[in-house]
Amino acid sequence: MDRYCVFGNPIAHSKSPLIHAEFASLTQQQLSYDKQLVAEDQFPQAVAEFRRQGGQGANVTLPFKQQAFELCDGLTDRARLSGAVNTLYWQGDQLWGDNTDGEGLVRDLLRNGVELKGCRILLIGAGGAVRGVIPSLFEQQPQSIVVANRTQAKAETLAQHFAELGDISSCAMDEIDGAFDLIINGTSASLSSTALPVNADVIQRAKCCYDMAYGSEPTVFQQQAKQLGVSKSLDGLGMLIQQAAVSFERWRGVTPDPQPVYDLIKRQL
Ligand code: NDP
Repeated sequence: MDRYCVFGNPIAHSKSPLIHAEFASLTQQQLSYDKQLVAEDQFPQAVAEFRRQGGQGANVTLPFKQQAFELCDGLTDRARLSGAVNTLYWQGDQLWGDNTDGEGLVRDLLRNGVELKGCRILLIGAGGAVRGVIPSLFEQQPQSIVVANRTQAKAETLAQHFAELGDISSCAMDEIDGAFDLIINGTSASLSSTALPVNADVIQRAKCCYDMAYGSEPTVFQQQAKQLGVSKSLDGLGMLIQQAAVSFERWRGVTPDPQPVYDLIKRQL
């Protein structure tokens, strides 16, 4: 049976095995998918050992996405641009890396009827998640992207790094101004139930607010958006399922329907 896994530390919380088992069942694929807890200094050894034991592909989560990027012999364009890898696969003896987070986000937005072409996007946060999604967002030809972050210097660095892809600029979180069609919260503020200090006018004018975080209840950012009358507010569960679907497609060459898996995981949150 073909073997897949997710490497991380911690890893107990990961929903990837359940998601991929459901994809396999839906597409009648015979495969196994496990969690692998890896010590922080043992990532290359763990990947090599997994391959020796017949591993076909793997997902990579915190804190190994950057180490995975450095370990790969080949990278997809979006993985190279984002500097992080969440999906490993082999071509012969060569280890390849992809980053499916951005395409997962884009698929979820499009599936929820959010038009990205010509869109003015505000991206809040400048960590790994935001960095990972910018190349895929630009593929959709938005009008512009503004990156705002608590630590402004990190937002500036990201805007410079991606300047060749399109109209991208940065600002401090409390200086955000102007009109945006889509606001994406890519900070971990929701995980600690912290409201973002973003001007209410800015949120009010958005057509959609998206939080990459998710949980059993709407996140603080979703609640902020709802209270301010934003008609569409989404959480990141769809992104989680869709980024897994893109990995699955890469490994197995078939596209699983994300909806039944979304419904299953939602019920379990
Ligand atoms: P990082 O640790 O790399 O970055 C965290 C970011 O959040 C930084 O920009 C940081 O700002 C900001 N931040 C943290 N706390 C606060 C706060 N209280 N107020 C304002 N800003 C804050 O994390 P990731 O980029 O990996 O993850 C970010 C979020 O995205 C998490 O909620 C994660 O769960 C989610 N995520 C969801 C995925 C999905 O599939 N749905 C996939 C990947 C991530 P500063 O630079 O100033 O420290």
